[in-house]
Amino acid sequence: MKPIQFKLLKTIPLLGILMIMAATSTAIAASNKTDNKEVNLYSARKEKLIKPLLEKFTQQTGITVNLVTGKADALLKRLQTEGRNSPADLFITTDAGRLHRAKEAKVLQAVQSKVLEEAVPEHLRDPQGYWFGLSERARPIFYVKGKVSPDELSTYEALADDKWKGRICIRSSNNIYNQSLVASLVAHDGLDKTEAWARKFVANFAKPPKGGDRDQIKAAAAGQCDIAIANTYYYGAMLNNKKDTKQVKAAKAVAIFWPNQEDRGTHINISGVGVTHAAKHKENAIKLMEFLLNKDSQKWYAQANYEYPVVAGVEWGDTLKSWGKFKADKLNLSKLGELNTKAVKLMDRAGWK
Ligand code: FE
Repeated sequence: MKPIQFKLLKTIPLLGILMIMAATSTAIAASNKTDNKEVNLYSARKEKLIKPLLEKFTQQTGITVNLVTGKADALLKRLQTEGRNSPADLFITTDAGRLHRAKEAKVLQAVQSKVLEEAVPEHLRDPQGYWFGLSERARPIFYVKGKVSPDELSTYEALADDKWKGRICIRSSNNIYNQSLVASLVAHDGLDKTEAWARKFVANFAKPPKGGDRDQIKAAAAGQCDIAIANTYYYGAMLNNKKDTKQVKAAKAVAIFWPNQEDRGTHINISGVGVTHAAKHKENAIKLMEFLLNKDSQKWYAQANYEYPVVAGVEWGDTLKSWGKFKADKLNLSKLGELNTKAVKLMDRAGWK
């Protein structure tokens, strides 16, 4: 059977979504009866970031991968709605905060695999094996060249200083990347200290939060702020954008500063994968996870989206090499999920829109 491609579009009316869901599920379920050489994957990552690897996996193992792509939160909801009847064997999504939500929602199951445990550093996987990191990204500080000197910068904490009043661009608090960043501060500095920090940090915003990570870099380049916070792969994609020279120009106006190098290291996060609770092809699912974490796959997967491989000794892409090495925070990323609710409430109290 041919891999199924499916995209959840925001604009599809609910009934349409339900109809497509039913059709897709039936197609996958029907094929299960006749063919065990397959595995069903729900992926919140874009098809182009994963499909070539899945095709290689099929060539090597004879196992067909049925791919369903969609938005992260919609796919999690779908897994919850389908429950034990879900055709999905594997779930790929971004941010440890979301992977933790999936674990809490009981749509994942724990797996034990020596291969996975050896490939993925301990802090980049769930302690009980519910999810494993596939690629790593950092969320550093970007500063406007010529306006800010890197020696004025040091830590995330120091961005609460009055000297940054009206100079910081960052997206809204309902974004999981910011929730995870704040959760990491809570883990390291405690709740009270982080709340005090957040109040001052928010007071330094150049404007009310709006748009995505790329928009913060664009706003900085356009003179609306001097500092932007964004994930590294957005910066990489902007620098290498072949179609939109405006994005290249904006990205070139800023430079990366790696915060907290003298203490715990820069905040990082992952895209990751877990076996679903409902998995009917668990063995194949683990095989695919192990394949995604071999050195060749890691190199391709990380480079396809300007991310860092999670497996040690895998070569970085040229763009990442040009940013230099940095010390990354070794906090177990499951903590970001555990502290998510506290982080969200704290951001709300601090007035972070
Ligand atoms: Fe993203």
